[in-house]
Amino acid sequence: MYAPAGVKTSKDFPVPDTMKAWVLGDPGQLALKDKPVPVPKKAEVLVRIDAIAICATDLSVIDHGTPALIEGGLPFNKNFTPGHEYMGTVVALGPGVDEYRIGQRVSVEIHAGCGQCKRCREGMYTSCHNYGMNYGDVDKGHRANGFTTDGGFCEYAVNNINTLVPIADDMSDEEATLVVTAGTAMYGLIELGGLVAGESVVVTGPGPIGLLGVAVAKAMGAQPVILTGTRDNRLEIGRGLGADHVVNVRKENPVEAVRRLNGGKGVDYVLECSGAPNSLNEAIEMVNRGGKVCLAAYPHEMVPVDIHAIVKNNVYLYGIRGEGKSATLRAEAFMRQKRFDATKIHTHTFPLDDLLTAIRYARERIDDAIKVVVKAKIDAAHKVAAE
Ligand SMILES: [Zn+2]
Ligand SMILES: [Zn+2]
Repeated sequence: MYAPAGVKTSKDFPVPDTMKAWVLGDPGQLALKDKPVPVPKKAEVLVRIDAIAICATDLSVIDHGTPALIEGGLPFNKNFTPGHEYMGTVVALGPGVDEYRIGQRVSVEIHAGCGQCKRCREGMYTSCHNYGMNYGDVDKGHRANGFTTDGGFCEYAVNNINTLVPIADDMSDEEATLVVTAGTAMYGLIELGGLVAGESVVVTGPGPIGLLGVAVAKAMGAQPVILTGTRDNRLEIGRGLGADHVVNVRKENPVEAVRRLNGGKGVDYVLECSGAPNSLNEAIEMVNRGGKVCLAAYPHEMVPVDIHAIVKNNVYLYGIRGEGKSATLRAEAFMRQKRFDATKIHTHTFPLDDLLTAIRYARERIDDAIKVVVKAKIDAAHKVAAE
């Protein structure tokens, strides 16, 4: 039985010595293996993973390796387990941990910075200067589960206490996996200045972050909130999450539509979540003079940018990485208060053993999949409900 020295466990939550874990081999190849259950150190806990959502970034890691960085290089054939959007139950405490108790349900942030570099000291731990430095002679203690350390496509994971987000008792496992997604949208709006009440916001791209970006902007009091995208069914979900207006860019010029919907003026903020090649140039045209654009998506190619318009109009550009400045705690607070229903973007649930099917649904958007969740233990009633 699992009983490492200095680690506190409870007979109410017994932990085995080994667990099932999906391991990345060559690009695109995942295999289910047995791994030892990891051991929490100082300021860490062991989380039993109850549910994990699949993210587009997981697909990039599995197929191309980036942005994961394991032992200074690509993550292939290093016994690495991907997956980063998970929630679960605390089942063991590292030495000295009294901030959490065994049995507590938590969602997780991805990044625990090194805690000692300039950016970590500023609260920008997702931009840690020691990203991936957690091995051999360059061990600075950086952890980003699913990117620089083992992630959550398995049964148990070690998390730094600073990455834990306590969740409301009545929040379902599936909804709790979306806390970090909402937290990423929240971080973007905080970096833009945060005070968006009464200000106009456009969100471009109705993927998971864009849809929850609409929800968070509306919960923060933005008016109007306009969502642009190419698929009517996704835009409708955005409306359900609080968008005042939606624009299908296949049917209408998005820049003209936004100006028309905002009384002929540009908007104060654009949260760019589409990664489409011309989306930045359109965002620059959508904002008013002195407006702010936040980039939250990865485009697949280099794109020419209208710098002339940026300079002439004093437009501010921000890139955000992940879910910094404890934004997930604020996002969970909105969800706890039922300010929006994040479960509108959860579409499918599969058992952990069926991860490859779950990934296929997420990748090919089978059956209009948005957020596909995987659970180690799945009850029959639940499975039916998700289908
Ligand atoms: Zn993600
Ligand atoms: Zn750091």
